[in-house]
This record gives sequence, structure tokens and C-alpha cells, in this order.
Amino acid sequence: MIEAPISRHLDVVGAASAGFVEFLMTSTWSKRREADDDICDFVVGNPHDMPLPAYVEVIQRASAPQDPSWFAYQLNEAAPRDAASQSLRERLGIAYESEDVFLTKGASSALVLALSTVLEPGEEVLFQSPPWFFYESMIAFARGVPVRVPVDRATFDLDLAAIAAAITPRTRAVIVNSPNNPTGRIYPPETVRRLAELLMAASQKYGRAIYLVSDEAYNRILFDGRRFASPTAHYPYSFLVYSYAKTLLTPGQRLGYLALAPSMPDRARMRRAVLVAQYNGFGMPDAVLQHALPELERLCIDLALLQRRRDLLVETLRGQGYEVHTPEGAFYLLARSPLADDSMFAEMLAAEDIFVLPGHVVELPGYFRMSLTASDAMVERSLPGFAAALATAGECSGVFGHDR
Ligand code: PMP
Repeated sequence: MIEAPISRHLDVVGAASAGFVEFLMTSTWSKRREADDDICDFVVGNPHDMPLPAYVEVIQRASAPQDPSWFAYQLNEAAPRDAASQSLRERLGIAYESEDVFLTKGASSALVLALSTVLEPGEEVLFQSPPWFFYESMIAFARGVPVRVPVDRATFDLDLAAIAAAITPRTRAVIVNSPNNPTGRIYPPETVRRLAELLMAASQKYGRAIYLVSDEAYNRILFDGRRFASPTAHYPYSFLVYSYAKTLLTPGQRLGYLALAPSMPDRARMRRAVLVAQYNGFGMPDAVLQHALPELERLCIDLALLQRRRDLLVETLRGQGYEVHTPEGAFYLLARSPLADDSMFAEMLAAEDIFVLPGHVVELPGYFRMSLTASDAMVERSLPGFAAALATAGECSGVFGHDR
């Protein structure tokens, strides 16, 4: 008899991480997404149109070596760091410095980097529910203890009182994601300012800093002329997490960064700690993407088009009888499932060749999530199918009658 140990983390990964992996491995979507061209695919933030031509040109240029060290080991190189910090200064009005930008393989590795830099085993990390799928497992893999804090279910805003109540002497970090996946909420400036006050008071009370990890993967995906207020403006113990996957809609090209707030105390020591953590698994982006970053900084997908798609879907689905939230930013529409069992309703949509993410996967049972990155053709094709699935659901009892 040979035992084959698997990390204990498999047993502690939370609802969303395990739920998403389950969905990836077993759902009808997972079987049909590659096999079938005709599906209307709203499941994740993947591109369904050809990439920006300018993106392709930049990558082609960056792939042509200009000197012998073009494909040498890349650390946090000066040109991409400068471009990223300049962009942060211009867009957010915060004095981010180049040396505080650590280049990563997307937001995921920036999150892991922040957590593994500051966490001692057994320390607690607060995250908001509904969450992005992987926060809970990332915290567990960094040997921390995930603590779930529900957002206000009426407004999807941060519940500051609940955050304050969840803080203990063992709390080491709080993850906040705005614009939010899946709710589309951008936390108002007043809320993020009060969050900073709350964290500072708690850090002082316990004599140990509670870090803010601000997941700003969507900080340029804003609708209706909205502005984004970075929580890192108000709080010195802040990490900013960014990804180029959203602005460019190229999530398979892994590029992002972690930035230390310019007011962070003892930054020289923190920079060293981040760098040591970054060497574990060599988390820096590949050479081509580092060379490309300064030019990629200036590119962005067509946000007006994304907003038109949002408006068409929100209006049409509401007209059909769905309850739909209007996102302020990020890629996702959130709608009430007409049946309490969101998996069952997702299957009714699948019967119409429409694929959505059932809400329970992001800890929102009774909802479904749709990504606005579906193509316009998919959106057009899907509209009659949404009406048909709602009618099918109507034949079951309790449509929209379930608890919120
Ligand atoms: N955070 C949030 C809120 C996200 O939605 C995503 C991707 N969907 C990520 C982090 C991970 O981004 P990346 O692909 O750059 O690792």
C-alpha cells in the first residue's frame, strides 16, 4: 500500500475556488466550449473577437531581438516599471515610484506575491463575498486563514461594520476588489476613505499593520464616464494589484504588477522582501511582454463598445422579465436566476446554446453571471434564447419567488 499525499490545501480550498474548478472540470460548458463554434459563451472574461491589431504589432516588434540580452533573465526591468508607475501617477493621482512596481504574470501572481510577502502561518486574511474565485485558496496556499466577509447584499457595497467586526489580533491583510467581479460595483470614494480609517485604527489598536491588498484588475474598465478612486490613496500599508488582461483582453498573455503605496513605511525593507518572494517560482513576466509593456500601457479595448453591449443586454433582458444589475465597471452582468437552483437554470440556457456562470460558483446562489466579452454576434444570437429559457423556467413553480 503506497500513500500518495496531496497538499492539505486541497481540503481547505473554499467554496468559490473548489466550485469553479468543479465547474471547469464537469460543466456542459467545459465540454462544449472547445468543440462547438455556435455557442453563445458568456462564462468567463475571455476574448471572442480578434485581438486589437495594435496589440499584435507591439508583440511582434517586442519579439524581434534588438541586442544579445533581449531574451536574458528579466527581473523588474526599468522601462516597464517606469511606464507602469507613470501610468499610475497620471491615472490615479498617487505618487507611485518605479522601484515600487514589481512586474508579475498577471493579477493572480501579484496577489500571491503580496500575500506570501506579508503572511505568517496562521494569520487571517479578510476577503469579501461574493469573491473572485481564487482568493480563498490563494490565502490558504500562502498559509493564511481565509475569513469571508459578506458585502451589503442590497447595494453590493463594502460592509465596513462587518469588516471591523471580523478583525482580530491575527488579521494581517484585507483584500478589496473594485471595480468588482462579479458585482460590477465601484466602491465610492467615501467608503474607501472610511475603510482606510478603520484599518489604521485597527492596526494601531493591535500594534501591527493590517495590509490592504487592493485588487484593481479592472481599474480602467469603467462605464458611464465614472472615475475610479483607488483605496491605496488613503492608506500607507497598501498593495495595488493590476493586470493588463482586462484593458487589452488578452488574459492568456500573463502580464501585470504589484505596486507598493508610496507612503508605505520602511519601503526599502519591503522591496527586498517582495523581491525574495518573487524569486520563488520566478514570478516575473516573460521577456517579450516586459519589452512590450511601455507600448501596451497606451492601448485599451473599445470601452464604448463594451458599454453598448452592456446596455443592449440589460435593456433586452429586463424587457423579457429578468432582474439585472447594471454594472458600473468590470466585465460582468449579474442577473437573478428565475429559479432558486441557478445550476438548473444555467442548464435551461445551455439548452438554448447560451452559457453563463451559475451564481453559486461565486457564492451568489440564485444569480447568474455573464461576461460582456462575448462577441456582438453571440449577444444577438442569444436574445431569443434568453426569452425561451425564461419561459421554460416559468413552467416550473416559484420563478423569482425564491429568497434573495
Ligand atoms: N482579480 C480579479 C477580480 C479577476 O477578475 C481576475 C481575472 N478574472 C484576476 C484577479 C486574475 O487576473 P489575471 O488573469 O491577470 O491573473
